[in-house]
Amino acid sequence: MSLAALTITELRKQLTAGEITPVQIIDDIEKAILANDSEINAYLSYDFDKARAMAANTDLTLPLGGIPIGIKDNINTLGEPCTCASQFLVDSYVSPYDATVITKLKAAGAIPLGRMNMDEFAMGSTTGNSSIKPTNNPHDLERVPGGSSGGSAAAVAANSAIATLGSDTGGSIRQPASHCGIVGLKPSYGRVSRYGLIAFASSLDQIGPCTRSVADAALILNAISGSDEMDSTSLEVETPDFTLNLDEGVAGLKLGIPKEYFTEGMDPAVREVVTTAIDKLKSAGAEIIDISLPHTEYAVATYYIIAPAEASSNLSRFDGIRYGNRAEQSGNLIDLYKDSRSAGFGSEVKRRIILGTYALSSGYDHQYYNKAQKVRTLIRQDFTQAFEKVDAILTPVSPHTAPKHGENSDDPLKEYLEDICTIAANLAGIPGISVPAGKDNSDMPVGLQILGPHLGEEVVLKVAQKLEDII
Ligand code: GLN
Repeated sequence: MSLAALTITELRKQLTAGEITPVQIIDDIEKAILANDSEINAYLSYDFDKARAMAANTDLTLPLGGIPIGIKDNINTLGEPCTCASQFLVDSYVSPYDATVITKLKAAGAIPLGRMNMDEFAMGSTTGNSSIKPTNNPHDLERVPGGSSGGSAAAVAANSAIATLGSDTGGSIRQPASHCGIVGLKPSYGRVSRYGLIAFASSLDQIGPCTRSVADAALILNAISGSDEMDSTSLEVETPDFTLNLDEGVAGLKLGIPKEYFTEGMDPAVREVVTTAIDKLKSAGAEIIDISLPHTEYAVATYYIIAPAEASSNLSRFDGIRYGNRAEQSGNLIDLYKDSRSAGFGSEVKRRIILGTYALSSGYDHQYYNKAQKVRTLIRQDFTQAFEKVDAILTPVSPHTAPKHGENSDDPLKEYLEDICTIAANLAGIPGISVPAGKDNSDMPVGLQILGPHLGEEVVLKVAQKLEDII
């Protein structure tokens, strides 16, 4: 069996027993990429020589010693391209530094290997907004893998990566994990440093793992968590060992089911898989409690004001002067900015910049941005109140399984509404995971989402592990 199809936990056992070497793992990843990535398009680039050179010097006593990890192409890794899947940055930007998560992965012995495809600047939920190439779902090549971390999820599902990092601003780790049938974890806001992540919406972005097992997600979270003086929003809290309590089970835990997440528009097959998974957790000893998160219906509207507003500011640095390919022969400086940005950004990114600029413009800021911030507080309070009654919350990740390519692309609003189950966790800053829960009639994967209180990753992982064991 290809080493590229194993979990970190399995590989670490074989590595420390001296049965395999890190270079053999890299060889098998290369073979898998050559065999299937021309169909899947999970990778934007890779450098096997560099990875092999690192592998030759790995310390196998470290927790991730010898484990190659794919990196979403919006996370800076020294000396590597970091395109955010945007033509604007193709051939014009090579990272001059390591993001803190990369420094930490390297310190834990991991080997960054490969740049994973994504929606341009992480805006989207299909990876179809990549301005380089679309990624295909390994379960059905005619379908999308989800997004924006579609390459990160698809490679793990296609056995062409052991594990990857993604980023999640409104669901971009959990939703592709659900669509590809793997595990995807969004940590609490502030748990993981964002330094070196090219910002989409700074108050919502978090980096997290896409893996083949819950234990692997815990291992990576151990490595990348922790306060960082380079990110003032990273929290000064202790990082527990997230692998320690995984097997505690769910007996006695109170798990909340919010009625607002089981909307009429959801696919009955998704409802059935999710309900069955909830029943199994009940049989495993959890107490299932109906709850309400009354402001859920405003989450999509709130997010699509706040995220574009922050994006319109964050993306101003891509102007052809500081960053990005420069338009030729522009008349003056303003034209140079305009021409470079017009040529560089894809249509979804432009739509977000226009939406955000409008929401922040004088006279409208009260009506939109400030109001959205107030509603965000109400959404956060819904969760605070719910977690007084329950230990964790169970929901679908997405109302539907992976759509076919182009299915929603002519109607951005329809696509935005699909984010209904994932967005509120980012607005509230709480952790969430997607765990494979079953399949629909077309054999497409369905994930169950487990949400926990802020900094409550341990309970989230514990429930996730139980689900993985019994499903
Ligand atoms: N689908 C959402 C969006 O398009 C979330 C993206 C993300 O989490 N990066 O904004």
